Amino acid sequence: MIRAFFVEFIFPLLLFLFIRSLLGNFISRYRTPPAPRQPFAPSVQAGGELKKDPICGTYVSTAASVTRTVNGEVVHFCSKACCDQYPKA
Ligand SMILES: [Zn+2]
Repeated sequence: MIRAFFVEFIFPLLLFLFIRSLLGNFISRYRTPPAPRQPFAPSVQAGGELKKDPICGTYVSTAASVTRTVNGEVVHFCSKACCDQYPKA
């Protein structure tokens, strides 16, 4: 009696939960959008010219970079942190 209950109810339930969790993992792996790029990674996704960040040496896309004009020259940075480190003119 108890064994029948186990085989006919608990086992299919566990099997269902197991399969569902596997499917959930599988689906979420393909549904999650790609992680945002790290600001210090070479960034070319937005197109434009590549410029070297004078603080950390990373090449950044002019379209995606943080810019500041120093002595009439536009300087490109990978992030605001690098921009803030650049000596003020
Ligand atoms: Zn930088």
